[in-house]
Amino acid sequence: MAQTHILGYPRIGAGRELKKAQEAYWRGDISQKELLAVGADIRRANWQAQRDAGLDLVTVGDFAWYDQVLNHTLLFGALPARFAEGAADNRLDQYFRAARGRAPSGEPVAASAMTKWFDTNYHYLVPELTDDQQFALASDWLLDEVREAQALGHKVKPVIIGPLTYLWLSRAEGGALALLPKLLPCYGQLLQQLADAGVEWVQIDEPILGLDLPAEWRDAFAPSYQKLDSVAGQLKLLLASYFSSLRENLSLAFALPVDGIHIDCVRAPEELPAAVEALADNQVLSVGVLNGRNVWRGDLAKWQRQLKPLAEQLGERLWLSASCSLLHCPVDLETETKLPAQQLQKLAYSRQKLGELEELQTLLQQDPVADAAGEVAATSAAAVTEQLQDTWRQQPYTERAILQAERWQLPVLPTTTIGSFPQTDLLRQVRRKFRSGEVAEQDYRDHLRAEIAEAIRRQEILGLDVLVHGEAERNDMVEYFGEQLDGFVHTGNGWVQSYGSRCVKPPIIFGDISRPRPMTVEWSSYAQGLSKKPVKGMLTGPVTILNWSFPREDVHRSESCLQIAKALRQEVLDLEAAGIGIIQIDEPALREGVPLRESEHKNYFDWAVACFRYTCSEVKPETQIHTHMCYSNFNAIMDAIVALDADVITIESARSDLQLLRAFVGKNGGYPNDIGPGVYDIHSPNVPEREELVARLKKIAEVIPLEKLWVNPDCGLKTRSWAEVGSSLLNMVEAARAVRAEL
Ligand code: GLN
Ligand code: ZN
Repeated sequence: MAQTHILGYPRIGAGRELKKAQEAYWRGDISQKELLAVGADIRRANWQAQRDAGLDLVTVGDFAWYDQVLNHTLLFGALPARFAEGAADNRLDQYFRAARGRAPSGEPVAASAMTKWFDTNYHYLVPELTDDQQFALASDWLLDEVREAQALGHKVKPVIIGPLTYLWLSRAEGGALALLPKLLPCYGQLLQQLADAGVEWVQIDEPILGLDLPAEWRDAFAPSYQKLDSVAGQLKLLLASYFSSLRENLSLAFALPVDGIHIDCVRAPEELPAAVEALADNQVLSVGVLNGRNVWRGDLAKWQRQLKPLAEQLGERLWLSASCSLLHCPVDLETETKLPAQQLQKLAYSRQKLGELEELQTLLQQDPVADAAGEVAATSAAAVTEQLQDTWRQQPYTERAILQAERWQLPVLPTTTIGSFPQTDLLRQVRRKFRSGEVAEQDYRDHLRAEIAEAIRRQEILGLDVLVHGEAERNDMVEYFGEQLDGFVHTGNGWVQSYGSRCVKPPIIFGDISRPRPMTVEWSSYAQGLSKKPVKGMLTGPVTILNWSFPREDVHRSESCLQIAKALRQEVLDLEAAGIGIIQIDEPALREGVPLRESEHKNYFDWAVACFRYTCSEVKPETQIHTHMCYSNFNAIMDAIVALDADVITIESARSDLQLLRAFVGKNGGYPNDIGPGVYDIHSPNVPEREELVARLKKIAEVIPLEKLWVNPDCGLKTRSWAEVGSSLLNMVEAARAVRAEL
């Protein structure tokens, strides 16, 4: 009989207990002991859920107080020394200092950089390794959790990130791969410890096998895994790859001395036959057939038909799983109280996927019924790209820029923000009460107006040049639009971890999308009416709305994207008609949708860029279009960013010490339009000093021409407090003035 397991389970808790406890601990409201207890409860519940669904192995090691990559950095003793200062014997506080720059003990410190985990909306903390980096097993967290699960009677399968993927994700001046010989012994010791603890299977994740790897990285796999195999003894290794197809790495992966391989059959179903072919007689094949990144029920009948012969051939050597860790899927559909039954029955969250694995396991012991409905034909993006040819603004940027300069009369180094202002407890409370019916719609609207007026007042005092209304009406930049548009379904508890204690609740694209009425015009024009300075209209772009939603699985993504773009185009025109002359269309998630394999990039960018351009193709030349992107490897998407042709782009760059900015310099004179590199990191509560900002601005001005340069924070400010925001922005505006004065 086929076996069942998962690669990982969400750690936030069914009611986001972890988030609440983390934040309470950081605020000083609960003790470390209380925080630890919440974590233990979540782990226990997660393991029990797997056990209840009859999974053959229970996955351990997928829990993290902030991030699983940071967990490994701790494990290998590779946490930079600055995080220990002042928190010397408080390991958890050192960990939080690395993650977010501060913890209940120790002084504020520069946090580690954070970046996206492959093509997901999860963010990990980039290991900062030095060229003479030493590694030593320095933490027992994994072993402790293994023992914790064993004590509860579970048969455990610990999961670790493989050495090559860990190094690939790290930053080291002289190249992280050079550190491999020093890191491998640590893995050896770790495996020995796990074997001594009575573990039979260890899952070792190497998702980089789904990337276009440089030869030296590919070549490093075989010798590394031979070393691990030589120390593994009785221990069995399940090598897991996910998010992408293995292609040229398939034979390499299957030839490694490992006891099993997991493949992502959702992203690369076409590789299943080759995988079966390559499988050695004693190897296990784990097939990820349920989509770990979406909320739809799996097509179990289809998989029953497809896997039945394989199940007979492999017996216990066939393992059934979700495509990737369920970290990217909400926790439990049973907590969804508001959705109607006909919607609920189409959905499966993590806990339900466990049940589906059990169902599929049973189905594979029965004979499949003949294919009744036939499979949905996959549509392609070609139609969308074709349809959007030649839909772009009439004048080139150079001409638009002149008209815009005339119209706006902004100083050099204009100051602005990215859109959102602090969402105060009061605002959240009023919104909650409005949603539950305790606050009447008119009162809610009045409250939003008051919030907007307050945001405008503060910006006027601070002396910013281009104002924003502050996004008080939005709980979330995607959910808000999803709620205004037809075709989306909003869950009550479909939370997914984005980073640390931050969770997002992506809407589900349930059908065709359209805009029944204007979505933001009322708020933007109210704000504009309060100020003589320009107030930026604020929209979320079509690609981001798509990439931060759970997509349909019955049509191509590009089709939904175009539907959203059409709706946004109407909104842009309505804003313009209402007198909003600067409109920002955020696309922080452009990067996320980029396929992991280079050969698929062009196709994606063709339709994604076309959809963005379509949203503003009809605006007047003097209307200024901004866009914004968060942390990203901008290098990889530079051509697409240029092709968006927004008049101004603001980007997140402060935390990477401006390294990210390099992509915008060089290459044919650099980024052609205006650019606002974030001058301070908004993820950290630390207030940047004025002098520090002056220095940073000057550094930026060395590489970006002054006349193109804007001054703004890294990202939106909604997670910060007004106290922090007020001081930070004041310093920012003064820094811009100081630099201007020296010109
Ligand atoms: N306009 C959004 C905000 O300020 C942008 C957020 C983002 O880039 N993620 O909140
Ligand atoms: Zn951002």
